[in-house]
Amino acid sequence: MSDCIFCKIVAGDIPADIVHEDDKVLVFKDINPRTQVHLLTIPKQHIESLAEIDDSHDQLMAHMIKLQQTLAKKQGLESGFRTIINTGKGGGQEVFHLHIHLLGGNNLPAFTKE
Ligand code: AMP
Ligand code: ZN
Repeated sequence: MSDCIFCKIVAGDIPADIVHEDDKVLVFKDINPRTQVHLLTIPKQHIESLAEIDDSHDQLMAHMIKLQQTLAKKQGLESGFRTIINTGKGGGQEVFHLHIHLLGGNNLPAFTKE
């Protein structure tokens, strides 16, 4: 996707503070962190959102989810962490390349009713 900012990060065309890379995913620091630790895990392949996921992505999705606990430990989030996947405009998604937010470090409050 030529106009996708996260594909440009995968390609090395835009810099990012990368904390993990393997054959399937890239993990980097969010440019506008909402919490002390705020990482984004993205697949190297362009997938628009969680709404595009099908059976062919099983291995990738398991890998992305299981990676979160490893990242959290490395970031010192022993007491816990929050993961968020925003999907679609109605879900607050702004970058249309699938990503998992990993948030922690401030004893995050429980969800409250809007
Ligand atoms: P979402 O609202 O779930 O689509 O989240 C997109 C996230 O990407 C936001 O938290 C942004 O701060 C973050 N973001 C946008 N551009 C960059 C970038 N170039 N490097 C790192 N994070 C970015
Ligand atoms: Zn992309």
